[in-house]
Amino acid sequence: MPIDATQPYDDQNIFAKILRGEIPNRTVYEDEWALAFHDINPQAPEHVLVIPKGAYVCWDDFSAKASDAEIAGFTRAIGHVARELGLLEPGYRLLANAGLDAHQEVPHLHVHIFGGKPLGPMLAR
Ligand code: 5GP
Repeated sequence: MPIDATQPYDDQNIFAKILRGEIPNRTVYEDEWALAFHDINPQAPEHVLVIPKGAYVCWDDFSAKASDAEIAGFTRAIGHVARELGLLEPGYRLLANAGLDAHQEVPHLHVHIFGGKPLGPMLAR
């Protein structure tokens, strides 16, 4: 079910539980600002989710309220993970779903990294 991204942050969401270590994950990278882990239902040979450590519902929430340090740290973490996965040369896609029309399902900001094969045109029809 897609979520309404204008609602307040719910600290019982699945990624909040992953951040607290209450649910296991296959971690790819972690630093002060971000955690990256394999998507449980991969849509490409490489499908990694990168989430900020702070409590932000979606990109709007994050871009409006996060500190400059959080934004820089999260952005750098995404770049680092894509690089470490070896995706720079073949290419990759970043995707952040926000709210109902985008079908965001987990109400904690996450950026998908897809790669490992030619990904085709951007939008599914
Ligand atoms: P969204 O549609 O919100 O952009 O994407 C949510 C993503 O989270 C989906 O790709 C889904 O497979 C993934 N996901 C949902 N629950 C879990 C979980 O418990 N662990 C992991 N690793 N991924 C999850």
